[in-house]
Amino acid sequence: MKYHIITYGCQMNKADSGRAAAMLEKKGYKPTKDIKAADLILVNMCSVRQSAVDRVHGLFHKFEELKIKNRKLKTILTGCVLKKDQKKLREIFDDVQPGLYVKSGGKNNSLSNITISNGCNNFCTYCVVPFTRGNLVCHDHRAILKTAKRAVKAGAREIWLLGQNVNDYQSGAVNFAKLVAMINAIPGDFRFFFTSPHPKNFSDELIVALAKCQKFSKRLNLPAQSGDDEILKRMGRNYTVKQYEALVKKIRKNIPDINLSTDVIVGFPGETRRRFNNTAKLFRKIKFNIAYVAKYSPRPGTAAANLKDDVPRLEKKRREQILNGIIKNGQ
Ligand code: SF4
Repeated sequence: MKYHIITYGCQMNKADSGRAAAMLEKKGYKPTKDIKAADLILVNMCSVRQSAVDRVHGLFHKFEELKIKNRKLKTILTGCVLKKDQKKLREIFDDVQPGLYVKSGGKNNSLSNITISNGCNNFCTYCVVPFTRGNLVCHDHRAILKTAKRAVKAGAREIWLLGQNVNDYQSGAVNFAKLVAMINAIPGDFRFFFTSPHPKNFSDELIVALAKCQKFSKRLNLPAQSGDDEILKRMGRNYTVKQYEALVKKIRKNIPDINLSTDVIVGFPGETRRRFNNTAKLFRKIKFNIAYVAKYSPRPGTAAANLKDDVPRLEKKRREQILNGIIKNGQ
């Protein structure tokens, strides 16, 4: 078993990381500098500085990618974690232990990641997934259920259903709505999560199914990507802002205590100030619990890479800060 420690913040945190490393090695872990090779990633942060908090939030996608490759990977956040930040950071980490350094992932904390599909049939113009992973391939629902049952029996308390576009899932007659109902019916004390869904595939059937699932974690990441119709069109997202807002309304009506997060890209080619302001408007309106804001950068081979990357770097940064400010202060 290998561990990797990331330290953000002051000297004191660095010293604490040294102590945490010693504790882990006592438990039989070996250090690795390669985050991809780690079975346990410990992030030691100092949330007094917003930049550290922002950087920790930025790890979300990295962890998602790593977890797809290593289902046993465990991520722990420790250090000076302010109470106000803890709720949001619990979405990113398997465990948040302010002031504690290592807890050996006992029965009650165990988590099981189950990849239900690979690849994607959409071609969002900024995304490399269809090129790197190919078309959507869904795993047989019987195999998924067998894995989930086995995991729950072995003590898993959190089941994560993973895929690039989970709600496009189809295995024979079983779509994603039916799959979540089947997962929910597995006896045992656990909650289930999933990531990532596409708004255009979020059917009424799925909303109704989730509302009936008492084991659904009620955490939902619904990537908006932009709050401007012209930009959404350029991104190839296949929904409008109105449709996205209507979807959120429907989800909140059926699952009132849903914890809603989103992904958004700022500075996409052609995103004028006016178009960006539409995204800020969407943020103010929806009031997401958390948002993962990415500054656009072209990915070779994608359709968007042929568009002029015309928003200056500093302006992208400014837009990122505005959206993060809305999430943090609600305005
Ligand atoms: S952003 Fe998501 S839905 Fe769009 S192509 Fe990439 S993986 Fe598919």
